[in-house]
Amino acid sequence: MEICIVHYGEIGVKGKNRIFFEKKLVENISRFAKAKRRFGWIEVEYREGIEDKLRKVPGIRYFGVGFKTELDLSAIESAVLKALPENFETFKISTSRRNKKFPLNSVEINKELGSVVVKKTGKKVDLENPDVTVWVEIGENFALVYSKRFEGIGGLPVGSAGKVVSLVSGGIDSPVASFLAMKRGCEVVVVHFFNKTLHSPEVRKKILKLAEKLAEYQGDLKLYMIPFEDVQMEIIRIVPPKLRMVVYRRSMVRMANLIAEKEGAKAIVTGDNISQVASQTLDNLNVIYSASKLAVLPPLLGFDKEEIISLAKKIGTYEISILPYEDCCSLMVAKHPETRANLELIEEFEEFEELEKNAVEKGEIIEIHS
Ligand code: ATP
Ligand code: MG
Repeated sequence: MEICIVHYGEIGVKGKNRIFFEKKLVENISRFAKAKRRFGWIEVEYREGIEDKLRKVPGIRYFGVGFKTELDLSAIESAVLKALPENFETFKISTSRRNKKFPLNSVEINKELGSVVVKKTGKKVDLENPDVTVWVEIGENFALVYSKRFEGIGGLPVGSAGKVVSLVSGGIDSPVASFLAMKRGCEVVVVHFFNKTLHSPEVRKKILKLAEKLAEYQGDLKLYMIPFEDVQMEIIRIVPPKLRMVVYRRSMVRMANLIAEKEGAKAIVTGDNISQVASQTLDNLNVIYSASKLAVLPPLLGFDKEEIISLAKKIGTYEISILPYEDCCSLMVAKHPETRANLELIEEFEEFEELEKNAVEKGEIIEIHS
């Protein structure tokens, strides 16, 4: 019977917390497959198409699809023969031996199994550039054998770090930032601010699509759609155009904090990237982030735009992000916004608390199931 042999990276070395991380990962995989914690790996029941799912689970470094056998050389030999694909000319056996009590060492096992394959199939060993590699792992209780190996996304299991509220705009950057937070073990609650009077149902569809894509990595995901127009009209009434962008962003950060309080989230995540646009100068980021009680984390801090785009393509958000949309943030702002906002000056304008509270209360909460 084929099984999936799941290996985690970093969580293997977290001392006492290790079991907590492992259990979290098992729990996350269990949402779509039967999974069991073993010594140093996780066993997952195989079914067709599961590769695509496992490839998206944060915390998995790599996994194989193959067989579990007894710790016995002849059983391992037949598993190796079963694991070989139909068509190949050259092969290599790659053994790792965690169980030092096993009578042969890894080099000896490679030789032994290699000669069996040569004898049975007539194919050649090629250690440099083989058509097929058969991995053999000698564990405490079982041996694992597989020739199909897939890279995961690494990181830590979602939920192991706690919750964050992630501001998602519909642009390219913020969905990637949300993904990176998930990859580091955060459970992400997505928040989008929109202008009900201006925005077509297209915006809603777009944000839903982005949230659904992100749910492929996280599992279930909560999306808050917050109507921003009342706050926005008041900002437009009071704040000069040059400063509006920064004030919008401060307001969003404050509302994100209200949502974080409801959700028990411990930080705010944004798609900010140093100096990419006018609102992202260090001076402005200081002013924007100082509106937050919780830490504001921008995972894209040091990325180049090309790097963000290529990651967006890899995770599948890019195609959705480039669909046309109106960002409420770009409404009624100066062509050349202030790049060095003055906090004291801005604080004089700000009396939006009631409106912000109301906006959050009016918000729609959408539960997305992966
Ligand atoms: P993005 O590609 O994510 O839109 P950007 O480089 O275009 O980012 P801005 O549009 O200035 O930069 O937004 C900076 C960050 O502010 C976004 O990454 C997002 O985290 C947050 N943000 C902006 N607009 C919204 C919105 N309407 N709803 C929720 N968050 C928003
Ligand atoms: Mg944007």
